[in-house]
Amino acid sequence: MPELPEVEVLVRHLAPRLVGKRIEGVRVLHPKLLRPNTPSELAQALVGRVFESVSRRAKYLLFHLTPDGSSKCLFVGHLGMTGRMFLQPRDSQLPRHTGVILDLSNEAFVFEDPRRFGRLQLDTTSLSTLGPEPWDDKLTPKWLIDRFLGCRQSIKVKLLDQTVVAGIGNIYASEILHRSRISPVHPSGTLNLHQCSQLHQSIQSILTEAILTGTRIPLDFARGIEGLFYFGTDSATTGYEERFSVYGRLGMPCLQCGTSIQKIVQSARSTYYCPTCQLG
Ligand SMILES: [Zn+2]
Repeated sequence: MPELPEVEVLVRHLAPRLVGKRIEGVRVLHPKLLRPNTPSELAQALVGRVFESVSRRAKYLLFHLTPDGSSKCLFVGHLGMTGRMFLQPRDSQLPRHTGVILDLSNEAFVFEDPRRFGRLQLDTTSLSTLGPEPWDDKLTPKWLIDRFLGCRQSIKVKLLDQTVVAGIGNIYASEILHRSRISPVHPSGTLNLHQCSQLHQSIQSILTEAILTGTRIPLDFARGIEGLFYFGTDSATTGYEERFSVYGRLGMPCLQCGTSIQKIVQSARSTYYCPTCQLG
C-alpha cells in the first residue's frame, strides 16, 4: 500500500511529464473512482485545461490546472491500496483495470486501480482535516505532546491518525518507532518531551530517507504493480530491495542489537518492533 514517500516519488515523476500538457478528453470506465463526483462533472472541469503543477499533501496527489478566467481548478488523486497513475502513448493498449483516462495530445494519463479504493476527484473535503506535513514548521515536539495529551491509545495507532501528522502509514510507523526507541504499545498520552523530540526527528529522517531511496532507483510506473513501488520490490528484477529495520522482519535479528524482531497486531494492522531497543 503506497504511503507518503511512494506518493512523493510518483509526484516527482509525473510533474515534469504533465506540466504544460492540455487535457483533450476524459474517459471514465469506473465511475466509483470519482466519487462523490460524476464523469460529466470531471469532464466539464478538466477538458481544455492545462496542467500547471503537480504537488502532494499527505498521501494525496494534487493536480493544479491553469486558471480559466477567474476559476482555478484543482483535482485530487489518491492511490488507495492498489492504484497506479502513469503516462503511456495514446494508442497503447490500456491495462486491464483501467478506471480513468485523461487524453493529452500524443499521450494518455492512465489511472488504474484493481481494487478501486483509489480516487480521482474534484471534491477536496478530504484535505481539510489533515494535520501538518512531516516537514511543516507547525510540527514540533510540543505539537505532538499537545495532540497526545490525555490519550490512552498506543503510540503506533496514534501515529496513523492523519490529524496528528499527515501521511504516516503502517509501514513507516513501525520504522519511526524503532528509530525513536519507543515501544509501539506505549500509551501516547504518557510520552515525555524527550520522547516526542525523538519521534519528531525520526518522522522526518525516516520519511526523507525513504523518498531519497525511491528517487534513486529505476522505477517503471507503466509496467505494473511490480515496477511501481520500491518497498517489497523483487530485487531480482530491479536489482534493488528496500531495507527496513523492522517492518516485515519477524524473527530476524535487530540491526542494532541482534534481538529477534517481534510482530503484534494493533487495530487489525501488523506492527513490527524490537523488544530490546524499544523498551520505552
Ligand atoms: Zn534491537
